[in-house]
Amino acid sequence: MEVVTSRAELTAARGQLSGDIGYVATMGALHAGHRALLDRARAGNRQVVVSIFVNPTQFGPTEDLSRYPRPIEADLAVCEQAGADLVWTPGVQDVYAAGDPRVTVAPGPLGNELEGAARPGHFAGVLTVVAKFFNLIRPTRTYFGEKDYQQLALVRRMSLDLDLGADVIGVPTVREVDGLALSSRNVYLDAVERQRAVGISRALFAGAADRPQAVGTARAVLDEFGIVPDYLELRGADLGPVIDGEPARLLVAARVGSPRLLDNVEVAP
Ligand code: AMP
Repeated sequence: MEVVTSRAELTAARGQLSGDIGYVATMGALHAGHRALLDRARAGNRQVVVSIFVNPTQFGPTEDLSRYPRPIEADLAVCEQAGADLVWTPGVQDVYAAGDPRVTVAPGPLGNELEGAARPGHFAGVLTVVAKFFNLIRPTRTYFGEKDYQQLALVRRMSLDLDLGADVIGVPTVREVDGLALSSRNVYLDAVERQRAVGISRALFAGAADRPQAVGTARAVLDEFGIVPDYLELRGADLGPVIDGEPARLLVAARVGSPRLLDNVEVAP
């Protein structure tokens, strides 16, 4: 496994790769959820490329950029174990060599809804950095978690709308045994909050089992756990309107203590 930092090193290392390239974009603090993406990439491609970069442009001014966990040695061990061929760990200057980007990717209407309503500019930051990484790495296939379902939908749409050429593959959410979706931000939960956080997945599973009243049923479970959601919505699988007889998606964001936790599940027709 080769680990590179500068843009020049990345370009040189990328030039050595041939055949299908599976790419996984991460912000590090890797856990079994990231590992599922790496395993899918490993199984489906000749070469596996991983990026580890905490992207400042997708964080709001009051968010956790400076305290976001950065356990780089442990992360590299996970990549090595998963059989990655090339890991890019750039600094901010390597990614934004020309300074703050002035030309950015506009996420369209969906970029202002759900997560986008709570985090103005977040998806422009995400899509811009992902587009840059796609251009530098030129993946055949790229793997994104359903955990961040709106991000997956927007990256998929960007790849189509801008002809970025990467096949965007969604990977199901990996959960703790009690149902809590794995997240790098779960480390911010103290023991009491960790117990309450299970209310999020419980609420979603209850809602998914009761499609006609999915939102009301899920809200009742959140109430039991004293969790007030930022949003709790049932949408179509593409995050448009729900369509009768087709799979839908129940999505929630809620603060439990300091971290804002996201989760979503499929709601079968
Ligand atoms: P992050 O490092 O949080 O930016 O996440 C990098 C990728 O891992 C994104 O595509 C996430 O959706 C995905 N991911 C994060 N948590 C999970 C999880 N619990 N299960 C599956 N994928 C995940």
